[in-house]
Amino acid sequence: MEKDCLFCKIASGQTPTEILFEDDQLVVFKDINPAAPVHLLIVPKKHIRSINDIAEADLPIIGQMHWVAREMARQHGVSSSGYRLFTNVEKGGGQLIFHLHMHLIGGWK
Ligand code: 5GP
Ligand code: ZN
Repeated sequence: MEKDCLFCKIASGQTPTEILFEDDQLVVFKDINPAAPVHLLIVPKKHIRSINDIAEADLPIIGQMHWVAREMARQHGVSSSGYRLFTNVEKGGGQLIFHLHMHLIGGWK
C-alpha cells in the first residue's frame, strides 16, 4: 500500500468503486473514462509502479492478470468478437496512474 496511490486506495476499499472481480492478488473495475464499450482495468493489489518494476517473484501476478483478463472478456461477451489487452509503461508510454494495471478494451460494433 503506497500512500496517495489511487489504485492502492481502490484495491483496499478506501476509495469506493464498483469491484467487478476480486481475488487474493487482483481487483477488476471499470475505467472511469472508457475508451470502448467495454473498458476494464485489471489491477494487482500489490503496489508495483510499472512493468519496469516487476520482480521475478511477481511473475505469478502477471500470469494471474492475463488469466483473469481472459475470464473477464468471457463474462463481458467480447471473447469471440475480440479485444485488446495493454499496459502503458511510464510517461512516454502513456501511463497516468503509477500503479501497474492492464487495460481490457473491446465491444465495438
Ligand atoms: P494509464 O494511462 O495509467 O494506463 O491509465 C489509467 C486509467 O485509469 C485511465 O484510462 C483513466 O481513465 C483511469 N482512471 C483514472 N482515475 C480513475 C478513477 O478514479 N477510477 C477509475 N475507475 N478509473 C480511473
Ligand atoms: Zn498503488
